[in-house]
Amino acid sequence: MKNGKSIWQKTIEQKNYPQLSSTIKREAVVVGGGLAGILTAYFLQSRGVDVAVLEADRVGSGQTANTTAKITSQHGAVYHRLIAWFGEDGAGEYALRNQKAIEDYAQIISKERIDCDFQRLPAYLYTKKQRQVLKQEEAAARSLGVPCRFHNETELPFEIGGALEFENQAQFHPLKFLTALGEKLEIYEKTPVLKVEGKRIFTPRGGVLAGTIVFATHYPFINRPGYYFMRMHQERSYAAALENAQPLKGMYYGIDADFGWSFRCAREKLVMGGCNHRTGMIPGEDPYRQLSKQAKILWPESRISDCWSAQDCMTADHIPYIGKFSHKTPDWYVATGFNKWGMTHSMVSARLLTEKILDRSAGKKSIFSPRRFKWSRGTAAMLKDGAISGKNLFLAWAGAAPKCPHLGCRLNWNPYEKKWECQCHGSRFDEDGALLAGPSQTDLLRKGVKK
Ligand SMILES: Cc1cc2nc3c(=O)[nH]c(=O)nc-3n(C[C@H](O)[C@H](O)[C@H](O)COP(=O)(O)OP(=O)(O)OC[C@H]3O[C@@H](n4cnc5c(N)ncnc54)[C@H](O)[C@@H]3O)c2cc1C
Repeated sequence: MKNGKSIWQKTIEQKNYPQLSSTIKREAVVVGGGLAGILTAYFLQSRGVDVAVLEADRVGSGQTANTTAKITSQHGAVYHRLIAWFGEDGAGEYALRNQKAIEDYAQIISKERIDCDFQRLPAYLYTKKQRQVLKQEEAAARSLGVPCRFHNETELPFEIGGALEFENQAQFHPLKFLTALGEKLEIYEKTPVLKVEGKRIFTPRGGVLAGTIVFATHYPFINRPGYYFMRMHQERSYAAALENAQPLKGMYYGIDADFGWSFRCAREKLVMGGCNHRTGMIPGEDPYRQLSKQAKILWPESRISDCWSAQDCMTADHIPYIGKFSHKTPDWYVATGFNKWGMTHSMVSARLLTEKILDRSAGKKSIFSPRRFKWSRGTAAMLKDGAISGKNLFLAWAGAAPKCPHLGCRLNWNPYEKKWECQCHGSRFDEDGALLAGPSQTDLLRKGVKK
């Protein structure tokens, strides 16, 4: 089975936008034309802001092209933990904003008449072994006002220990949505931002003087200030589209470490996802083989038609960073660290950043603030990430493997994807060293390195 393009990329014709080739002035610039960037620009423009989007490659060519596109406030069994860590107020803000994001999608799609296979349907968390965890999650979600129901059975072709349904969630075709929304905006493609100094943005053939700058580049590529590279790592997951599998009426996400498969349908295909691992930490078995084996067990008559993979930024406390980029840069904002739930988190970012920029509600405390820090929650994960970076920096210095242009960590060869991957921060490069994903912003200079 060969990894390749997602079913979304294969079923969309995208518009080309020009490259920026002069110096312009705008009230706001959004850097990054993924879901977070396009939605933020759309919200700002809807409020009368003169905004342009600068995209390094093509709109929707980043992680948004390879998502599974469930629009849900059900992000694994998070609510019990969020209440324990951040109290009912913090957890409540997370739940409310993510629930609202689903309604925002429905409203935008209806208002702009976007044909993007948007469907309302329930989302289920399921478990074989951790019934008690789901029971706890049910109580936690209810206490925050999220409508949910516990089930002992589902339509899935295997026995479960329990399932928790969140009602009235949604799914869609992410690139159809993004493309339609992009057509309403001023966008420059093939326009990587090379450097930002205060309000001045530099690109290869032009520049922008911007009142406000939003970094929606998935992983922020500016290391200092902000220091996001010390606060996040990236994780990859794999997806396969199956033909001739049983159609499902809901979306599913497993919470057991050894059976955490994700399922949804997309027209006549069933999309199955899983096999998570830290980017650059190469698994012992080919994830595509694992997906294929499991698909055959669950739906023996099925056949894999497409498979692909993606990665996302993971924060220490599992909450995104949405807000001011740093205390030193009053006009910079950021949206990152979506922990694999970027469909609703992108919408939350767009709304929250628009509020912060225009309503100057910046003083209001938010659980999403990039400046939040709880010693009890952040320290262990940050120390672990720091130790991994230290080890890979040393190995890069001591060994022959190629070094990542971002901060010099050793790169590992992923034989299943035929890509170089950085375990520290998640940059990726193809066989010839061409950049595929940041935070690195440059290709790899390889000097006769063996895989
Ligand atoms: C396998 C998998 C399945 C997932 N499934 C779901 C799901 O079902 N539901 C859900 O909610 N979430 C899901 N997610 C998460 C979700 O896909 C992501 O969080 C989301 O797509 C991230 O969007 P983004 O706009 O932040 O990033 P991107 O889509 O990566 O956009 C960032 C853009 O910035 C551009 N860029 C980078 N650097 C520069 C620069 N210097 N100058 C200009 N532009 C730049 C890039 O080219 C890119 O186009 C999944 C993630 C994975 C890994």
